[in-house]
Formats: sequence, structure tokens, C-alpha cells
Amino acid sequence: MGGNAEVVASNLGAMAGRLARIRERIEGACARAGRQSSEVQLLAVTKVFPASSIREAYELGLRDFGENYVQEFEGKAPELADLQDARFHLIGHLQSNKAKKACELFHAVQTVDSAKLARRLEDCGTPLEVMIEVKLSHEESKHGADPADLPALVEAVRGCRNARLTGLMTVPPWSENPEDSRPYFAQLRGLAERLGLRGLSMGMSNDFEAAIEEGATCVRVGTALFGRRKKV
Ligand SMILES: *Cc1c(COP(=O)(O)O)cnc(C)c1O
Repeated sequence: MGGNAEVVASNLGAMAGRLARIRERIEGACARAGRQSSEVQLLAVTKVFPASSIREAYELGLRDFGENYVQEFEGKAPELADLQDARFHLIGHLQSNKAKKACELFHAVQTVDSAKLARRLEDCGTPLEVMIEVKLSHEESKHGADPADLPALVEAVRGCRNARLTGLMTVPPWSENPEDSRPYFAQLRGLAERLGLRGLSMGMSNDFEAAIEEGATCVRVGTALFGRRKKV
């Protein structure tokens, strides 16, 4: 027996256990909220992890993957070209000058935060699903559109033909306590309702249950699936 095959098998077993636990948590939150778990997409967040981790998650049945950096994913993408039905979502901030590259690499961009960026994505000429990232906190480090600017931005993106607007995304301030995130999730849902948008990308490893209870249609889960990320 090759040692490598055993290591891969035990990694897969561990990941399968973590995935089962995540699915249970999703089911539990859906049951509390009177929702169907099929309404909630599990996006596996793979930043920092190698292409081999994405492949393992794929083997366990996951198809949607979230990456934060265009350049990082550009390095992994060639190794994943055979995973034809995998879908890659950009969930990190995107600079307009990288829009073209992002269109080539990703099926969806969740972090549109300006009309200029939407135009750049539109100009790539290929179909792309987009979400608008909304900044609901006052943290300096966070990106996203100001809620006051949303109506105009939504209108601009709705005018696009290639870029198809599916909803809103947000990242609340990090907190140990998932209940601290809940008001942000509720606020995002209220904004989406007023704008007639259905998709809500919100909730991460520690707070996705609260997000589902508040209406999330996409939860972005990294640590709970792949373990702790090494600091880069
Ligand atoms: C890293 C990241 C996640 C995943 O966070 P975990 O706490 O590891 O689940 C989700 N969303 C965004 C935008 C991220 O950058």
C-alpha cells in the first residue's frame, strides 16, 4: 500500500465527517426557519488551500467553490480544468483592472461594488452571474457598496446583458458570537426585499445558521470544512 493513497483516504474521511456535520447544521437551521435545505447553496471557500483540497471536496459531491483572489485562483485553475461541472465564485474584492481575468476564471462574482466594475465585467462579453456586495458596518478594512447607493447600482447592473444580477452579499464584522451577525443578515434581507432581489449570500463557518434563519440562499463555509487556514 502506498503511503500517499492512505493519507489521501484519511483526509477524505475527515473532510467527509466535517461536511456531514455542516449539512446537519444547515438542516437544523432550515428546520427552525421552516425552509428547505435545497434553497441554501453551500459554497466551499477554498482560499489558501491547494487545488487538491478543491478536488477532494468535489469528490465528496460539492460543486460550488469560493475563492478570494484572482491571482491565487489563476494558479490553481489549470489543475481543475477537468472538473467540468464545478462552479467557481469570486468572493473577495475585485479591482476593475482585473475584471477581464476574473471573467475568464469565474462563473460568478459576488463582490460587485461599483457601476464601473459592473461595466468592466459586462465588457468582457461573456455570461456571468453577479451579486452586489453591501457594506453594512463601518470598518475601514471592508469593501462593498454603501446601502444608500444601492438603488442606482442595482439599476446599472440590471441594465447589463452579460452580467446577470442574482442578489446581495455581505460580510459582517467578525465576532465569536453568531448572534452579533444576525442584525446585519436581517438588514441585508430587508434591502434585497425592497430591491426585488432573491439571492442572499451571507453566513460563514461560525454564523451560517443565523444567516439561514434570516434568509440566506448561499452560505460561504471555509474553516468548518477544510480546517483552520494557515496565516499567509
Ligand atoms: C474566508 C471567507 C469566508 C469563509 O470563512 P470561514 O470562517 O473560514 O468559513 C467566507 N466569506 C468570505 C468573503 C471570506 O473571505
